[in-house]
Amino acid sequence: MKYKSTRGSIYTKTAPEAIIAGLAEDKGLYVPDSFPQLPFKIEDMQGKTYKEIAFRVMKAFFPDYTDTEMKHCVDGAYDGKFEAEDVVPLVDAADTHFLELYHGRTAAFKDMALSILPYLLTTAIKKEKEDHKICILTATSGDTGKAALEGFADVEGTEIIVFYPNEGVSEVQERQMVSQEGANTHVFAINGNFDNAQSGVKAIFNDDKIAEELAAKGVKLSSANSINIGRLVPQVAYYVYAYIKLVERGAIKNGEPMNVVVPTGNFGNILAAYYAYKMGIPVNRFICASNENKVLTDFINTGVYDIRREFHLTNSPSMDILISSNLERLLYHLSGDDGEQIKALMEDLDGKKVYEVSDKIKEGLKVFYGGFATVEETNETIGKVYKEAGYLMDTHTAVAYKVYEDYKNATGDKIPAVIASTASPYKFADSVAKAIGLAECKDGFEYVREVNEATGVPVPSGLKDLDKKPVLHTGVLDIDQMAQAVKDCL
Ligand SMILES: *Cc1c(COP(=O)(O)O)cnc(C)c1O
Repeated sequence: MKYKSTRGSIYTKTAPEAIIAGLAEDKGLYVPDSFPQLPFKIEDMQGKTYKEIAFRVMKAFFPDYTDTEMKHCVDGAYDGKFEAEDVVPLVDAADTHFLELYHGRTAAFKDMALSILPYLLTTAIKKEKEDHKICILTATSGDTGKAALEGFADVEGTEIIVFYPNEGVSEVQERQMVSQEGANTHVFAINGNFDNAQSGVKAIFNDDKIAEELAAKGVKLSSANSINIGRLVPQVAYYVYAYIKLVERGAIKNGEPMNVVVPTGNFGNILAAYYAYKMGIPVNRFICASNENKVLTDFINTGVYDIRREFHLTNSPSMDILISSNLERLLYHLSGDDGEQIKALMEDLDGKKVYEVSDKIKEGLKVFYGGFATVEETNETIGKVYKEAGYLMDTHTAVAYKVYEDYKNATGDKIPAVIASTASPYKFADSVAKAIGLAECKDGFEYVREVNEATGVPVPSGLKDLDKKPVLHTGVLDIDQMAQAVKDCL
């Protein structure tokens, strides 16, 4: 199996090469040249562990990794790093199924992929006899940054630089990042929003002069954002796992479809669900939930992607995104692998800030449903579900729950759904506390203690005593200083 670019380049890469490169040379994203089919029968996987399922799903996409190499990656990523039985609990509550993806070190679903990416990457470096040091450049809306830092800290042969929007992340998220230890870690706040930070990082990737300068120092840039195929594929595994669990519990019969509900930002998580479907997992509808930055809702409803709009800072900051990078991959698959067409659409997005897709792509989009929730609706949903069902959700998961309710009301669809539960409620404890009617506190850390006392839900160890951790990174940059900062770090 080979990986090719969404923008039509004739050059293909093996999985390890694509993981090292991050972005294709024509600036497109790597996609598999065909979808592997499930390497097992669902009925044969009953009772299997998360690791066993993840191993087989990932091997199907990355056949260039030997069994021994892949086992090393999966064990390294998931052994002892998740505070939940079998990595990702599928919790039945409030008349649906929550796939809790947030029991890793940083308490958000990004750990699912970023705990394994360093293993996939360092294994690829060995396989390819890559002699450059790899520098991971990452723009974050809050959760990717910490998960990438945690994954790459002190990993030999790598350096990691993270940029986050100053005032665009929660207090807990910020302290998680600026207290990061590790001699190879660098963290900067950016005067701007997430899209500015992401564009800044993309500009550095696309700058051939910087690439030359760094190459002279023996350094190559790569990405831990979900544009890296090594980030995306590990996420496919948990949708396969969720389906197997639903069948195991008798919630659905083998062969019958499930619905999937995903709180969406950069479109990576929901795209992973689509990849699981392409492998053969039966899915009825992909329910794409946005916050007030509802570009995707409008896109799914009209086929027009239009970013000429106001950017909202919400209480689900990891979804405060207007340019959803991974949508490019979906459009490529739906177009029938038409790289020229995708290149033209992305040029329109760059230049005109808007594009409209073909009728063929619009037809393909019909398996998606788009909806959004406001900040107020998100808070009401957290309060209501906690009061009525005793289940505590974070703000992102609540956006998904609210959109799923709207979907059920609009369609009457009763097919069982899996809601991707993407963060611990403690990561956004201030919003969660207010939503369940608790008193104002002086800072984000107080809110963690308050929510814990009121609900008894255990605090993830990574978030305990966070306010006592020393601040190690204090840099604040303008967008036009990012490139220089990268050079200085290296
Ligand atoms: C990153 C993130 C999302 C959005 O996921 P995408 O893959 O970017 O669509 C949703 N919720 C949380 C908590 C996140 O950290």
